[in-house]
Amino acid sequence: MLTLIAQLTIGAADLAAAFLFLFGLKRMSSPATASSGIRVAGIGMVAAVAASFLYVFSADAAAKPHLMVNLTLAIVALAVGGVGAWLVGRKVAMTAMPQMVAIYNGMGGGAAGGIAAVELFGGKTHGTTQLVVTLLGALIGAVSMSGSVIAWAKLQGVLKKPLRIKGQQLLNGLFFLATVAVGGWIVVASLSRVDPIMPLASWTYIFFGLALVFGVLMTLPIGGADMPVVISIYNAFTGLAVGLEGFVLGNPALMIAGMVVGAAGLLLTLLMAKAMNRSVANVLFSNFGDAKTKAHHGAIKGTERPVEASDAGIKMRYASSVIIVPGYGLAAAQGQQKLYEFVKLLLAAKVQVRFAIHPVAGRMPGQMDVLLAEAGVPYDLIFQLDDINADFATTDVVLVIGANDVVNPAARSDKASPIFGMPILNADKAKQVYVIKRGQGKGYSGIVNALFYEPNCNMVFGDAQAVLIKMIEAVRGLGAAAA
Ligand code: NDP
Repeated sequence: MLTLIAQLTIGAADLAAAFLFLFGLKRMSSPATASSGIRVAGIGMVAAVAASFLYVFSADAAAKPHLMVNLTLAIVALAVGGVGAWLVGRKVAMTAMPQMVAIYNGMGGGAAGGIAAVELFGGKTHGTTQLVVTLLGALIGAVSMSGSVIAWAKLQGVLKKPLRIKGQQLLNGLFFLATVAVGGWIVVASLSRVDPIMPLASWTYIFFGLALVFGVLMTLPIGGADMPVVISIYNAFTGLAVGLEGFVLGNPALMIAGMVVGAAGLLLTLLMAKAMNRSVANVLFSNFGDAKTKAHHGAIKGTERPVEASDAGIKMRYASSVIIVPGYGLAAAQGQQKLYEFVKLLLAAKVQVRFAIHPVAGRMPGQMDVLLAEAGVPYDLIFQLDDINADFATTDVVLVIGANDVVNPAARSDKASPIFGMPILNADKAKQVYVIKRGQGKGYSGIVNALFYEPNCNMVFGDAQAVLIKMIEAVRGLGAAAA
């Protein structure tokens, strides 16, 4: 009776988890519903974990004793992981989000690899198909884990420079082939049940070792700034690995969660590559942002014209329309609260204010939307590139805050530029442009921005938050003077 109830409850919990994952994902597609989407998917995860625990009481578990778990250990692991992630998640700065995603993604890959290891070392897989699927999941999970750790180290600044050696791609190819060959040998040796060279367990260690080294070698040469795309690729890998191990365990929640993550990661990778006008292969193999691309300056003439923050603030107060373009520097300066405070002053003075979001502004997809949502900016003021780009030409003032590449007109006209072809926000077409940045720092692509030298552009030098504070004071000062 208990096993029947457990069986039915597991089925219901798996179904609920699948529904909640998909429904949550759907809600994440708009900033207005995204945070509730995260909560819905989180409840789905609780349902999936509950189903996994109930498995212990099912008839299936009695038939497959090797799948039994040490309940105490599982609960301790769950508590440590859950509390740790909750504490870290609450404290993490918005700019450190990519590395947090990297390390959590690596853990997911490691967990999939761990499940595969239990199956392989325990010799518990049944039949060739299951063995091949287990090995595939192990390979993808291990690569995702070691690759994500390198991605984390680069984003965290632990590894500062891309490590490239001559013949790197050949070496990577050889490691990949060696891993596949050892995997193939494990299948052959398992089928014949005798291994003339060494025990299967030793081959399994070698297989995991090679896969982990391959993940490291594949990631080391890629520039730190390309890491968000790489993490997205590894995210797809982790999803795939989890889905494959779900198949091996016969666990529908794992299969569905894995496939959803895999598909979402793949789509995100393709979207990011498209928004940067680059192929995924170019991200992985081109050494983008290296000395050669950084040397490209194009034919930029003229000088930058700095102005005081107060003058820029007052000009916007008397404009009839303003578009704000936020970029990585706004997140780095944590200036979002001050920005919204400034925007509220403009709105109170009946200025039309809108935000223009580039799909790859910042260092993480959706980073600007999250930043503005965190400050409480209403969603109806926020516009994506395609919806606002035509309006720049008829706008009085564009305020670019800590953005650079996403407003670089070279992407439209300079065929030699490394960002040529990338869709950009047409900030340069506005009547007046103000750019807040600290100095001569370049953007992620490492190139100079011709916009800063245009006659309709003025620079407001300083940390974004400090400049915004001065702008707020200047506009408030006007009100006080009038009173
Ligand atoms: P950029 O990296 O092009 O430029 C950021 C600018 O912010 C710099 O020029 C810097 O200049 C300025 N800055 C830095 N700190 C501050 C601060 N505290 N206050 C004021 N300004 C500051 O950013 P964008 O958002 O325009 O473009 C994003 C780039 O990242 C694109 O090239 C995109 O392809 C790439 N990318 C984006 C990903 C994503 O998913 N969003 C993923 C991978 C790459 P200064 O030092 O002078 O202050």
